[in-house]
Amino acid sequence: MTDALSDSASNGWRETPCPVCAEVSWGPADPVFRAGDSEPFPVQACTVCGLRRLGALLDPAAASRYYGVGYYAQEKARSDFRTRVKQILEGTGEWLPDALRTFISISLVPRAPHAGARLLDVGCGSGNLMVRARTLGWDVVGTELSDVTAAVARARGLSVLTGCWEEQLQPRSFDLIVLNHVIEHVANPRNLLETLAEALAVRGQIHIGLPDFGCVQSRLFGGAWWANLPPEHVWFFEKRHVAALIKAAGLKPLEWRDLNRVAAQLRPAIWRHQWAVWRASGGHALGFASRLGACLAAAALPRIDAAIPQARGVSTMYTVVCARA
Ligand SMILES: [Zn+2]
Repeated sequence: MTDALSDSASNGWRETPCPVCAEVSWGPADPVFRAGDSEPFPVQACTVCGLRRLGALLDPAAASRYYGVGYYAQEKARSDFRTRVKQILEGTGEWLPDALRTFISISLVPRAPHAGARLLDVGCGSGNLMVRARTLGWDVVGTELSDVTAAVARARGLSVLTGCWEEQLQPRSFDLIVLNHVIEHVANPRNLLETLAEALAVRGQIHIGLPDFGCVQSRLFGGAWWANLPPEHVWFFEKRHVAALIKAAGLKPLEWRDLNRVAAQLRPAIWRHQWAVWRASGGHALGFASRLGACLAAAALPRIDAAIPQARGVSTMYTVVCARA
């Protein structure tokens, strides 16, 4: 897959500024691995804020293949059960406390606040979230990079924008905009958030879900963390980067919803998969023990965590709820 990465010099990637702090100089950083690939993907770090990114992007033709039929099949295979659970939780109305609902899932869609309320699902895939949102009273629109995947969603009677969809958005027109696992994929997340902030209604919300690349699991496994997922993950944001990015785009965070810690840590399948990626990347037991020691030492020094609020979580995934600043 590394063959499909564009030459960074030829597509201007090297000169692309940091979306968080606008710095243009990038230094070397530890490479990242993908399960099944022994060859590492190169990574760079912003010399000012430390944000890490892939050293090169997928070229556009490879990207459209990548997010095509296979990507959709992967989504479908694992989503049916989760979709059903979320639908039940979303249908519970007012009798289940919000805190409990959020503990079970961090990506639930709320009920539409009024008739005709509009929801935009950016990177909607085959449209599972849109189908759920429709039953909660939302007037739904999705956007999708892959024409093949968009066709699957359209066959379910859903409205999906493709191509240069940003130009088709009306200002102040959406009450809820959802970006589930999107901002770490796109070449220019700052532009995307600025565009979406414009399209957000005055009292609207944006829900941004992504992996926490500064979490304990990520620090423990480094480049071999399973959620690094090169080449589709381009940016390896820590929470402090997301906080700064949101602010720069004219938004403010209302709530950080962490995936519950039990679910994040105690899934044997995730750890088995994680260990396989670690070994395939050349990692060994002694190296793991030394990293574990470093993590425990950091945990024993709480002032490190206190210095960077929201930066060092146990949870692996989170959703940040934002409004216009
Ligand atoms: Zn930066």
